[in-house]
Amino acid sequence: MILGKNPLVDSKVKRRDFLTLSTKTAIALGLSPAFIPKMTKALEKKEKPAVIWLHFQECTGCTESLLRARGVDLATLILDVISLEYHETLFAAAGHQIEDQLQAAMKRYAGKYVLVVEGSIPTKENGHYCMIGGRTAMEILKETAENCAAIIAIGSCASWGGVQSSGPNPTGAVGVQSLITNKPVVNIPGCPPNPYNFLSTVVHYLTFNKLPTHDKQGRPKFAYGTLIHDQCERRGHFNAERFVNEFGDEGHRRGWCLYKMGCKGPMTFSNCPEIGFNRYLKWPVAIGHPCFGCTEKAVGYTIPLHTKAEVLNPNPPQVYARPQEPTNQGTSLVAAGAIGAAIGVAGTAIAVKAKKLPDSEEE
Ligand code: SF4
Repeated sequence: MILGKNPLVDSKVKRRDFLTLSTKTAIALGLSPAFIPKMTKALEKKEKPAVIWLHFQECTGCTESLLRARGVDLATLILDVISLEYHETLFAAAGHQIEDQLQAAMKRYAGKYVLVVEGSIPTKENGHYCMIGGRTAMEILKETAENCAAIIAIGSCASWGGVQSSGPNPTGAVGVQSLITNKPVVNIPGCPPNPYNFLSTVVHYLTFNKLPTHDKQGRPKFAYGTLIHDQCERRGHFNAERFVNEFGDEGHRRGWCLYKMGCKGPMTFSNCPEIGFNRYLKWPVAIGHPCFGCTEKAVGYTIPLHTKAEVLNPNPPQVYARPQEPTNQGTSLVAAGAIGAAIGVAGTAIAVKAKKLPDSEEE
């Protein structure tokens, strides 16, 4: 007997996934819980937005990070939320077949598709440092951007050039906005970027039909509006002047502040401590490594790792993040408890965050 899929069960599972994604997005965007049904409805639409995803000079870490997102996986994203028309890493097709698919998608969805760019674009030697299917990254980007509706530059490389653009920048690597100036572009920097910030941007676009508001660097304000230092679980140690002086010392084992190890949290804007990465919701500082400022063009790959950071806001935060138990493997007890509790308190978290931010700039 061949067991078929149960459409009723499938649709319930999908609805649960969509509700999870909507709830997380509402929290991330600082929106009122009243927006959750609207977001869920947008996700359930039969017609999914077409997405063309390009890879240029990069390590594929942005896609890898997305593959490891917790709660909403990549399968849900590409099968149920969007219509992924082209992605070199995930597509089995190759050669002329996949290049034909790219051309067909650009024609079929002209003016409507979202272009996601991962990786920097080399401009020296007429762009010949990065060629795909016999064409340079510059040519491919210009062609695909011409008829897109909006662009999401995912990762620090696509945002401004990333590590490839650090001196002496032998390939002349730049980000999308240096080459495309006539389309709406949002940057989701990070090395890798946080997958939840990408997912929240996609859901925002689906719900409100526009990209989220962004700062001068093109980063969505909901994700890059606060200093890491002001949300860090080690901030209490900074104020009490309890610092790690070398890796493995007592302060390091006890989870003290990494400022003297070159942590760039005091000059870097991002929500890493608030939402964490991957299945364990960890971020570098939580596992004992200083932040290196990868979401800031003027910090990551520019200021040496162990140089002390400029403290942009010396005032103590109004609310301190809860300290985590130091851990060097897996999930700490506190983090494990927090993950378990997170689902239960999601509604409360939305209410708290919604209080801190305007109800919505999208209303
Ligand atoms: Fe956290 Fe780094 Fe700030 Fe210390 S310097 S409180 S480790 S962000």
